[in-house]
Amino acid sequence: MNSIATLGSHCSLQVLKGAKDEGLKTLLVCEKRREKLYKRFPFIDELIIVDSFKEVLDQKCQSILEQNNAVLIPHGTLIAQMSSDEIESIKTPVFGNKWILRWESDREMKEKLMREANLPMPKPVTNPSEIEKLSIVKRQGAAGGKGYFMAANEEDYNTKRNQLIAEGVISKDETLYIQEYAAGVLAYLTFFYSPLKEELEFYGVDQRHESDIEGLGRIPAEQQLKSDKVPSFNVIGNSPLVLRESLLDEVYTMGENFVEAAKRVVAPGMNGPFCIEGVYDENAKFTSFEFSARIVAGSNIYMDGSPYYSLLFNETMSMGKRIAREVKLASESNQVDKITT
Ligand code: AMP
Repeated sequence: MNSIATLGSHCSLQVLKGAKDEGLKTLLVCEKRREKLYKRFPFIDELIIVDSFKEVLDQKCQSILEQNNAVLIPHGTLIAQMSSDEIESIKTPVFGNKWILRWESDREMKEKLMREANLPMPKPVTNPSEIEKLSIVKRQGAAGGKGYFMAANEEDYNTKRNQLIAEGVISKDETLYIQEYAAGVLAYLTFFYSPLKEELEFYGVDQRHESDIEGLGRIPAEQQLKSDKVPSFNVIGNSPLVLRESLLDEVYTMGENFVEAAKRVVAPGMNGPFCIEGVYDENAKFTSFEFSARIVAGSNIYMDGSPYYSLLFNETMSMGKRIAREVKLASESNQVDKITT
């Protein structure tokens, strides 16, 4: 039987609790400074203490994982702290498709896959001089919204970019990505695609709370106008959301289109959890500005099961437990190759 391993951050508690509930051994690659935190949780069987997560690439760490027949569950921290080359070089079997993580990290590849999946996207702006409508300026990778800013035109872009460089938030030679700002109700749609069952499941919706763009909305316009601070989109936490039932059919279609597109573009496709992120406008039309090709931290809301999963499973089912269930089924039927890369 396989065991489940992940890096100590992001959604590791949910992932390992789910694995334990499925009867699998759990391992956590844990930074020394977080040892005290993670020792609090009895469902973690073994801590692999490291100074930095990059040690996951070292022989020592990989051989512990190998001895335990571990499947590594990738999450946002892995993507934020390692390059795509490094992730692809991991020898431990990675749950889902490690090759698609490059398509998540690289803005241009990301746009290509989203287009392939027919997702309605905000208009990309190739040059600051072409900013015509309110736009959002983003950094590469899973930066979590830190250092993002909004710009109404080229001058505004230059002022804010220079200010953030002076404050040391972004660097001078960083390539920034610009797209038009889409206004509406934020919705982060999480799915799970099972290559064993060849079936797509819709898990749930969350919203991100981002500082200090949200804080800005709480002060009167008069004070907002006087502030010269560039608000950021740094994610602080998540809260749950359910959708109007009439929107669900389209949600499944978007998920299916994404799975089909990923199959065409980056084999073996979009296996395991993924998230399509965007906003619903005043006509309930969805515009997607982003996807995550692995479990998102918003899934932590539903450690006791999500509303949509309670329709599909007659038991509490978190995303962590769902992943472990897939590993267990694959392990029992000799199909681990089908669910890992
Ligand atoms: P991302 O890294 O693309 O997930 O963006 C981080 C945050 O910025 C999102 O959670 C949204 O709040 C916001 N955001 C990103 N792109 C857009 C957009 N085109 N329109 C509106 N808000 C956006």
